[in-house]
Amino acid sequence: MRRHTKRTNMTNNDPIYRLKKSKKSKRAPKLALLGVLSLLVLGLVFYYNLKEVRVHVEVQPLMAVSGRPLEGKTIVIDPGHGGKHPGSIGQLGTFERDVTLQMAKEMEQELLEKTGATVLLTRNQDETVDLQQRVDIAAEARADLFLSIHFDAFTTNDVEGMTTYHKDSHDQPIAQAVHDRLMEKDFDTRDRGVRVGDYYVLRENTVPALLLELGYISNEKDERRMRSLDFHKEASEAIVEGMIDYFRER
Ligand SMILES: [Zn+2]
Repeated sequence: MRRHTKRTNMTNNDPIYRLKKSKKSKRAPKLALLGVLSLLVLGLVFYYNLKEVRVHVEVQPLMAVSGRPLEGKTIVIDPGHGGKHPGSIGQLGTFERDVTLQMAKEMEQELLEKTGATVLLTRNQDETVDLQQRVDIAAEARADLFLSIHFDAFTTNDVEGMTTYHKDSHDQPIAQAVHDRLMEKDFDTRDRGVRVGDYYVLRENTVPALLLELGYISNEKDERRMRSLDFHKEASEAIVEGMIDYFRER
């Protein structure tokens, strides 16, 4: 009986029940509003995050283009001599074949880091590579530029300086661009200018070709400079800037 009484008491008409119900119904819209607002905020956050991701993805290729100025170009770097052919030998005991290789490797790194170019070396160790093989590498790769690295020598030790040689008048502008950037560095040596050179790797090349004489190994001041990593870095930077100057206008 007591149970029954209790049950009959718990009807919708029970004042306590009604009170509770009315409180609940007043709170419900507020909760719903809060829910909708939180969903809206979450939605907005999600939307802007997506937008940010999309913007990020769209911007990246643009940055890649400006940060890779020689993308799509193939550059062949030719460290002069090597193996059976030591090239010239300096008073301090420098072998031309060694400094040309060190210089070429520094240039390869500079090109890969800053330009997006494809880089090929005609040799990457102290080995004998004949001149026709070097030229063939450039032809097979359909290179955009072949760049041979050398250091000059003379019978007297007072001759110093840097010379940029090119194949023909067609290659004069790129020779000039590279040479100008080298001279901007003020290496404390003579500017021996840009000239046409009758060297095998220029004459027989089927692609644009330069030969750089980056100092006289027979001159002590030039020899000391060409042995330093600082010089390899500075000169590489200049040569690569020259290439960028040239190809930017093509
Ligand atoms: Zn040489």
